[in-house]
Amino acid sequence: MIPESFIERLKDASDIEETISSYVPLKRFGRLLKGLCPFHSEKTPSFTVYTDGQQHFYCFGCQKGGDVITFIREIENLEYVEAVRLLAQRAGLPMPEDAADDGTSRLKARVLELNRTAARFFHQCLIDERGKDARVYLAGRGLSRRTVRNFGLGFAPDSWDALTGHLASKGFTQEEMLAAAVASQGRRGIYDQFRGRVIFPILDLRGNVVGFGGRAMSDRGPKYLNSGDTPVFKKSRHLYALNFAKDDGPDKLLLAEGYMDVIALHQAGFTNAVATLGTALTADQARLISQYAKSVAIAYDSYGAGQNAARRAINLFSQLEVQVSVLDIQGAKDPDDYIKAFGAHRFQNLIDSGKSALSFEIDKLKSARDMETPEGKTAFLNDFCRLMATISSDIQRDVYLSEIARELEVDKERLKTTTEAIRKKRAGTAKRRQAHNLKPFVQDNPAGKSPMVKPEELGSAVAERSLIAMLMQNPDYYDDIPSKLTDEDFVSSDHAAIFRAICAQLEHHRIPDPIYLSAYLSTAQMGILSQMLATGKEVAYKREQLDEFIQAIKQKPTSREEMAQLSPQEAYQRALESRKRRSST
Ligand SMILES: [Zn+2]
Repeated sequence: MIPESFIERLKDASDIEETISSYVPLKRFGRLLKGLCPFHSEKTPSFTVYTDGQQHFYCFGCQKGGDVITFIREIENLEYVEAVRLLAQRAGLPMPEDAADDGTSRLKARVLELNRTAARFFHQCLIDERGKDARVYLAGRGLSRRTVRNFGLGFAPDSWDALTGHLASKGFTQEEMLAAAVASQGRRGIYDQFRGRVIFPILDLRGNVVGFGGRAMSDRGPKYLNSGDTPVFKKSRHLYALNFAKDDGPDKLLLAEGYMDVIALHQAGFTNAVATLGTALTADQARLISQYAKSVAIAYDSYGAGQNAARRAINLFSQLEVQVSVLDIQGAKDPDDYIKAFGAHRFQNLIDSGKSALSFEIDKLKSARDMETPEGKTAFLNDFCRLMATISSDIQRDVYLSEIARELEVDKERLKTTTEAIRKKRAGTAKRRQAHNLKPFVQDNPAGKSPMVKPEELGSAVAERSLIAMLMQNPDYYDDIPSKLTDEDFVSSDHAAIFRAICAQLEHHRIPDPIYLSAYLSTAQMGILSQMLATGKEVAYKREQLDEFIQAIKQKPTSREEMAQLSPQEAYQRALESRKRRSST
């Protein structure tokens, strides 16, 4: 455990406003700071930082929240101790000697070491006699030896124990191989996950090998196989080749569909190409791109699935400040093919003349309607106005309205009025939604947020939240509690954990502050606590309410077995009481 005296120094040295601002642009509104949430996609800021009193953050959109350490855990994907270490490094504070590492960061280090050993092994297999067929395949795809070396490509022999045997000889345990997802558990022991495949090591931004992609050399099994998530790897958060692409200091990144496309693009000189890892683009990956480049050109396959994926990607980028264009790869099935057929120069022209995401969207809308009939045209114009209503730039909107009005010979002013009407209506809805989010939690239904709580226990769950919020606000009420209530009375295990952590602080006569609680709570529990703080701020609790809350928490609904023992009259009486109790909380 890290001593609390150290956390106290860290708290003084890591200002929450300064720390979060270095990731998220924040604007001040009185005593709050607001910005666009880095954890979910949004256009109106619901991510809030509270700098007065108990410093914490809370997002009304995705319910993430917590202290400054929780923020670092969430955004850097770190364990508690690692997050403290990172903040300490930034603040120039040496970590205390006895800050015992938890097992997780040790396992992470071992998995990274194992991955590097595995990558070396796969590469060796590719260049010696075992990799003859794989070398023929890669040469057939036009990859030079230099490219193969740069990307550290490898080959996994068609064997059940080639890699696992090698790793065992290097001192790695079976548990470590399973944790790294290079081995699977079978009935008679573990076996190699990748067999008879060309291997693409996946590197993170610091150059660590975090996972592998494998392409089949035969028709057996799926064509592409990727590492599952491990302690060092989350597929949805990494982009292939971003470690190379970011070194260009690129204004623009090129988003391709797979490993082979990216490698071919890099070999042809397009070193700003990246790809997702066998899945459609995720919101996390879109945000990652927005951290490195102002614009992105989507170079997906020219047929169906690729085009749908492009559309999805456009939607994700439209939430962020990233300019998007879509390459129109006509005459070839993918970027690799295009470059082989027409050369790198023509491909560069394609990038320079990439269709804007909006033109791409408009073309899609057109192709969905029969533009030869008046009905089809009208339907398209309605779709078009709805699309225009989502654009925040007046100038951009005007340009497209003029263009379509001219092209379809309709009145531009008419289109403009329709678009404005849709915009107004949407702005109204957004405002109402936000106002709703700000209502104190005692009025909202916590069922969606605590799925562990059964509907009939809602009354006590609300009372639990109220009691915790009350305690955070009025630590002096604590004296009455230990004799009347324990964490075992709580129906929600998250609430119980929060209650325990707060009581431990109060026992030691410390004012409960989120930063001291975060050592004992998960990031999800910190989110719940932050929600109570953010929404509870608007409620002024009175001491008299304490007993009400305690009573509501302790009065569990009667279980079914107990009910069966009661006479019908008794059961009816119980049901009445519990209904009354619920409606009064
Ligand atoms: Zn959020």
